[in-house]
Amino acid sequence: GCGGSNTNTQSNSSTETQPNSSSNTETAKKIKIGFSLPTLREERYQRDRDAFVAKAESLGAEVLVQAANNDENVQNSQVENLITQGIDILVLDPQNADSAAALVEEAHKAGIKVISYDRLIRNADVDIYLSFDNERVGEMQGEFITNLVPKGNYFVFAGAPTDNNATLFKKGAMKYIQPLADKGDIKIVFDQAIKDWDPNEALKLAENALTANKNNVQAVLAPNDGTAGGIIQALAAQGLAGKVPITGQDAELAAIKRIVAGTQSMTIFKDVRKLAEKSAEVAVALAQGKEVKDLSEANKTVNNGKMDVPSILLDPVVITKDNVDSELIDSGWFTKDQVYSN
Ligand code: BGC
Repeated sequence: GCGGSNTNTQSNSSTETQPNSSSNTETAKKIKIGFSLPTLREERYQRDRDAFVAKAESLGAEVLVQAANNDENVQNSQVENLITQGIDILVLDPQNADSAAALVEEAHKAGIKVISYDRLIRNADVDIYLSFDNERVGEMQGEFITNLVPKGNYFVFAGAPTDNNATLFKKGAMKYIQPLADKGDIKIVFDQAIKDWDPNEALKLAENALTANKNNVQAVLAPNDGTAGGIIQALAAQGLAGKVPITGQDAELAAIKRIVAGTQSMTIFKDVRKLAEKSAEVAVALAQGKEVKDLSEANKTVNNGKMDVPSILLDPVVITKDNVDSELIDSGWFTKDQVYSN
């Protein structure tokens, strides 16, 4: 049986299965897309989900959404359940880059193609990958922080080791930080990954790092806004918020407010509405029998340890105080009120 797969409450109610026959007289069967997210904790995932579902539905498809609460076992059973429910295509944002390879195999055995969404599934025959240029995200963080603080003690935080994106973000950032560390200008006094991208874990690690270094830190590389929030809380407790430059990623509302207030230096804007819409289009096309090689936009590849995966990679954007309005308000990401009201 598939018991236990409904223990998570994060599934989207708009995705309940409905008989295909309802008032619909079309003879073509409605395409069913399985969309599996690792979590809904970060603000972005609501947008991923909503934009994906809206686009897919506008194309006449039905979406079954699941979110796994940062637990790979939950994701495994949710995906197995989606396969059992007869999805035509699987869009998978993996909690664990490596163990998700088994899910790709299971889907393929059932004749279901797999789109790796936002995070790469490693060592598997992934059909196509849609994401942002994640190494570039890290480069933007590293370039920004080293320009601002070319010398001094650095805390270097990385995202979850189980997330291939975290590896790419750090790789990109270290292209800028490592040469200055090699020269002796920068001293990396703390260097650790944050399990499951957990903001509370980031807070605790930052508290310990501050104590161990007697608050002597000049810059912090934080991989995303959620973890930056935890680290900034630890800085604030020592009267250091706003005095120690720190990076971020995701353009979350709390982070934008911190940027406006001066306690966070930057974030990276990834317009996940575009990622989700493009992915919904590709999902429908592949479910209708189109081949990946015929998708002209899939003009890049990313190696996942087993193969060069055909990829569509969107561009990230650096956000500081100076372009919050032009990038985030003008594009409808936030309203002026959300950002500037208390
Ligand atoms: C995503 C980030 C997100 C992080 C934590 C990464 O894979 O690309 O946008 O903040 O996971 O969920």
